[in-house]
Amino acid sequence: MYHSIKEWASSIRLNIPSLTIKFRGNGKHTKTLLRSEFLIAKDTRIPHMNSELKSTSPYSSLIVILVNDCTIINYKHMKSRRDFLQQLSASALALPFLPIESLAATAGIKDEPYQGPILRVAILGLGSYASRVAEAMKESKKAKLVGVISGTPAKIKDWQAKYNIPEKNCYNYENYDNIKNNPDIDAVYVITPNGLHKEQVIRVAKAGKHAICEKPMALNAKEGQEMVDACKKANVKLLVGYRMHFEPKTLEIINMRNNGEFGKVLFFQGLCGFKIGDPSQWRLNKKLAGGGSMMDIGIYAVNGARYMIGEEPVWVTAHETKTNTTLFKEGVDETIQFELGFPSGAVASCLSTYAMNNLDRFFLNGEKGFAEMQPSTGYGPIKGHTHKGELTHPHVTHQAVQMDEMSSIILENKKPLVPVDGEEGVRDLKIIDAIYAAAKSGQKVKL
Ligand code: NAD
Repeated sequence: MYHSIKEWASSIRLNIPSLTIKFRGNGKHTKTLLRSEFLIAKDTRIPHMNSELKSTSPYSSLIVILVNDCTIINYKHMKSRRDFLQQLSASALALPFLPIESLAATAGIKDEPYQGPILRVAILGLGSYASRVAEAMKESKKAKLVGVISGTPAKIKDWQAKYNIPEKNCYNYENYDNIKNNPDIDAVYVITPNGLHKEQVIRVAKAGKHAICEKPMALNAKEGQEMVDACKKANVKLLVGYRMHFEPKTLEIINMRNNGEFGKVLFFQGLCGFKIGDPSQWRLNKKLAGGGSMMDIGIYAVNGARYMIGEEPVWVTAHETKTNTTLFKEGVDETIQFELGFPSGAVASCLSTYAMNNLDRFFLNGEKGFAEMQPSTGYGPIKGHTHKGELTHPHVTHQAVQMDEMSSIILENKKPLVPVDGEEGVRDLKIIDAIYAAAKSGQKVKL
């Protein structure tokens, strides 16, 4: 054990540019230690447990974990990041608001080389989101991009060069059923326009490969269910690309809710939208998109309402407004406002639009507290705070974490806190079907 934080910090030579002290304990020792080490004025109120204090300390290079009011976790005797994580988990010392993994990352503790199974992925559809996923996968430890499927030979060549993909792992839309004979590919990630997902996922399943499918998984719940059934029949897993289900601040709010920190949850607001550009894009084509903003961006509010409230809705009301009938043709929604009612009595009030920018906000309110996120579902950094203060989890590349987690789900049967399986995708589509029906009829639709 070290005699001071200074001694401890210098012994492990942590190198972090800015310091946030996270601590538990509010007693005499904590106060003395903080005063002596960080020049905190005598009358500084030491915040309660789970709080944080920005320090002006010259030792701005460490995370201090004060446990039981007196113990500094002694890193010196921990040879590796794994030891550090084990000590944290085993002793129930981990700070509730920082996932242990990110605590280790923030503390500058070096990763050990990953030695577990690796999910070998081929991407189907090499458009803009696929490019983002591919770049992010460079950061993944448990998933690797090994193959591509595309209708454009020039794109295949580009991707081969960029990601070192062997010729034998390249397919086009006509021949990718042959992937069944390729033992070097475990899963296919379908990242094409929504209207193509069903047929493509079913072909992937029939080829005996696991499928990851972008959201929305299909054009409606019936199609989604057919995909789930096909994957079950083929004995492969089907996951939907819900990256927010692995985002640390989102998970923290879900954990807080599960721990009762908001009390009885009463209300959720989800605002999701952006101003759509190019009128010729597939997102404005009913056949390929399945609708308009609701299918593309409103789905985040639907899905978010469910994971933030933690229940399944039992009724839906909806109202559609259209100001531009040239851009938003029949069956392509511009703006829909909708409400979801939950069994506990909680209500979600949401907006989905292709007509306004700066809409990416979640708000959850309960009897004892609240959580607010803005941005709430963009690529990040996500920002959030609750009645207890700001959420300070470090930003992660969503798609890198998603692919690591999906690898564990597929290869090691890991159960995520919020599901990402095909059934989860179908639940959202059932609600979206009901939203469209409610907007059309003007009636409340029961689920
Ligand atoms: P995109 O237009 O950039 O890419 C679509 C790709 O599909 C292109 O490579 C295109 O060549 C190919 N394609 C194959 N057949 C096509 C056809 N008949 N018409 C048009 N394109 C065809 O689109 P995107 O933004 O990459 O979106 C793809 C999917 O990813 C959608 O389902 C979308 O909802 C989803 N997405 C998810 C996120 C997320 O954050 N999870 C973000 C963006 C997009």
